[in-house]
Amino acid sequence: MFTVGLTGGIGSGKSAAAARFRHHGVKVVDADQAARIVVEPGQPALAAITEHFGKSVILPQGGLDRAALRKLVFDNPAERRWLEQLTHPLIREEIIASLTASAETHPAPYAILESPLLLETSQSELVQRICVVDIPEDVQLTRASARDANSVDQIRKIMAAQMPRAERCARADDILDNSGLLESLYAQVDALHQQYLQLAVHPQ
Ligand code: ADP
Repeated sequence: MFTVGLTGGIGSGKSAAAARFRHHGVKVVDADQAARIVVEPGQPALAAITEHFGKSVILPQGGLDRAALRKLVFDNPAERRWLEQLTHPLIREEIIASLTASAETHPAPYAILESPLLLETSQSELVQRICVVDIPEDVQLTRASARDANSVDQIRKIMAAQMPRAERCARADDILDNSGLLESLYAQVDALHQQYLQLAVHPQ
């Protein structure tokens, strides 16, 4: 199925744009959800993570304490790499399974892969087109810190670790400017949706 990758920095408006695509009947596969599924209790990845990092990353109910794990790997490139080498191939497989399953069970004109790491991982190979949600960094900081229980400083750190705005935009086929009102974002998504409907039938 024709698949568009939807990406952007933290708080840029990926979820908001994805919701609008969903509203049009487009199948949206969420890479964050795939990332949660592969570390669910009973999955081999969770056992490997527990063995490597210890029980401190496990919640009392047995699930992964994602915040604790994030803290452990954020400032530690070697541990981060270890975790990514374990989880990224599994996440990719989970995404492929969702895209395939949805093609069979939910006939949709095309699919969107919503992923914060689309351009940083081989997930970009799964899509035929790249759509970036873009906002100025100061707006990103305000929106992300208003949404999350993270301080402005923490958001700043996350932004610094992500791909720079200019680089991300340079890789985009399409850019959604989300610096304005939600209505403006929706209007841009509506226009792109029309374009994607055409591309799904007549790929360039
Ligand atoms: P992402 O999925 O890229 O992290 P979200 O879609 O969750 O970003 O948007 C981040 C926050 O900003 C959310 O609280 C969302 O409701 C809000 N938001 C998104 N777009 C707009 C907009 N155009 N105007 C005001 N708030 C917005």
